[in-house]
Amino acid sequence: MAAEIKFCLPIGKWWFLSPYAEFPIKMEVDGGMYEFPTVEHYYQSVKFYADDARFHKVMCQKSPDEARLLTKMPDYRNNRRADFEENKYALMEKGMRAKFAQNSAAAEMLKKTGDAVLIKSCAVCYKCGFGEGSGENRLGKMLMKIREELSAM
Ligand SMILES: [Zn+2]
Repeated sequence: MAAEIKFCLPIGKWWFLSPYAEFPIKMEVDGGMYEFPTVEHYYQSVKFYADDARFHKVMCQKSPDEARLLTKMPDYRNNRRADFEENKYALMEKGMRAKFAQNSAAAEMLKKTGDAVLIKSCAVCYKCGFGEGSGENRLGKMLMKIREELSAM
């Protein structure tokens, strides 16, 4: 049986799997190129259009969790990117793929997880408590897919 790796926050041995891990990514958004400090910053920013000041505010937050929390504020609830909800998993995957394509150290660490089953799960965060860890493991599946692509290269 393949080993299981449980990851979530950017701490401990599997820190690099987290979307919060500090691997900057350059991404095209609405025709412009932007650099995001983490995948989470990208994911949270694209809730807004690039010509919206809130896109930039979110992108510039010090930590990924601050970026996430800012998007929950009342001023951040309206006039979001219209198709964000339907595309959110695709956007997360795009960010994750960019992280490993643009940061070779991260790609090497991911490849070294071999055939271990990657599971997003921790005891503390709201997502693991209410879905991701106990549910569909979308992030883990994304990472395993990206690992397969990297290993085939
Ligand atoms: Zn968690």
